[in-house]
Amino acid sequence: MKYERVKNFYNGGFVDSTSADDLDVVSPIDGNLLATVPMSTADELNAAVKSAKKASESWGKAPIKERVQVFFRYRNLLEKNLDELTSLVSEENGKTSDEAKAEVDKSIELTEFACSMPQLVSNEVLEVSRGVECRTEHFPVGVVASIVPFNFPLMVPNWTMPNALVLGNTMIMKPSELVPLSVLRMAQLLKDAGLPDGVFNIINGGKEIVEGICSHADIEAVSFVGSTKVAKLVYQQSTHSLKRCIALGGAKNHLFVLPDANPAMTASNVTASMSGCAGQRCMAASAMLAVGNVDPIIDQICVEARKVVPGKNLGAVISKAAKTRIEDYISEAERNGAKILVDGRGAVVAGKENGTYVGPTVIDFVTPDMSVATEEIFGPVISIIRTNTLDEAIKIENDNPYGNAAAVFTQSGGLARYVMEHASAGMIGVNIGVPVPREPFSFGGWNDSRFGANDITGKSSIEFWTKLKKTTTKWNPEAGVNWMS
Ligand code: NAD
Repeated sequence: MKYERVKNFYNGGFVDSTSADDLDVVSPIDGNLLATVPMSTADELNAAVKSAKKASESWGKAPIKERVQVFFRYRNLLEKNLDELTSLVSEENGKTSDEAKAEVDKSIELTEFACSMPQLVSNEVLEVSRGVECRTEHFPVGVVASIVPFNFPLMVPNWTMPNALVLGNTMIMKPSELVPLSVLRMAQLLKDAGLPDGVFNIINGGKEIVEGICSHADIEAVSFVGSTKVAKLVYQQSTHSLKRCIALGGAKNHLFVLPDANPAMTASNVTASMSGCAGQRCMAASAMLAVGNVDPIIDQICVEARKVVPGKNLGAVISKAAKTRIEDYISEAERNGAKILVDGRGAVVAGKENGTYVGPTVIDFVTPDMSVATEEIFGPVISIIRTNTLDEAIKIENDNPYGNAAAVFTQSGGLARYVMEHASAGMIGVNIGVPVPREPFSFGGWNDSRFGANDITGKSSIEFWTKLKKTTTKWNPEAGVNWMS
């Protein structure tokens, strides 16, 4: 085992769990055992919440300009430790080194946004009638929780942690049990940056800890990122316990490819979107709506897909179970009459035979009722559905329960505008395969890809992580009284 048993982190210290129930943390790259992770106990969750609650008394009252200083230092530590973080993310998640580095870079960008919070949350004051002023002030919510998935071991934790903490909250984070190492390293960097004890805490575990978080009397807000099935449970359980909750779920992202699209640019974008991070991105292209005759573009996509090679510029999928699930989807589509143009099943990387790889896969003549057309596959697979008209394609996209992202490839501004208006998704790309809004724009889907009112990053997250106090003052006793003053 390369690393020691993963510890919890609370009250400023790394603490061994008393639980006897551990899971293995295995590198998808080669199947090697990296560490074990405990399924922590309810008592350990309580201890972490207690430390977060105690810390929130002083952290929540510190001026935001003071809190943000820690994050300037944390940002610099991310940069200083970029190489080490890159290899840790790659090792535990299986993504390529370039993709892991991009994840660290994005974590730096997210932290920089958090460092700009003092400029964004300046409070408002207005004289609303003669001598009477109204003012709004943002207050922290208190102890908040962040439950995160496996596919971005460092970036998704940095979607929530810097914003929530700069805004004065203290946090319990529940990492994915598949990739708990990067978050633990993040805790050390925060400590090195001077974050006071108890402001950030980690409790490892699975379903029981998540349920414990959703019902904990001292946790005020819960953020979740993961599959739709669990997002619904977390949203229901947290709001049942009268907490505010934002729960981001899975995705089935549709790319509309129109005959006038630039072939080379479209092919490289579609391929990068479906195969980047081995297709394990909630923004990955999963279904391609081929409107009219786009055969030359499909040919070009196959050429591009064949350049994506497992173990070289394509990382591993997270586990053996994921590999089997993805390959089963491909086989089922083939049995039902779809045509596999590029087949990634059975991929093996020499010298890493225990790694879990699936090659890029292009499936043509998929019909809208097939499972590869409707369900999230979460692997490097693109399902091509052919339609005669754009409206037919839009109906297929609209009928899908998810709504994270959609993109259109065309040279026509009018047609692009039509898709922007009619696609039922929270994030739209025009000639962009992975339309992630960068800071200060916020990230969040629609429909079954997000439950709750706000987006999880950017300006929209300010509303989630704070509560507003509205104060009305009058200092002119001679003024008359009316019902509005
Ligand atoms: P997951 O839902 O299996 O797990 C997410 C978290 O929930 C983990 O911390 C896990 O321990 C916990 N969990 C798992 N099962 C649970 C249960 N039954 N009850 C309570 N908690 C449970 O998701 P994953 O496999 O780690 O991540 C992949 C999924 O996340 C994909 O569906 C992907 O689309 C989605 N995702 C969405 C976004 C987004 O922004 N919408 C971003 C990243 C990932």
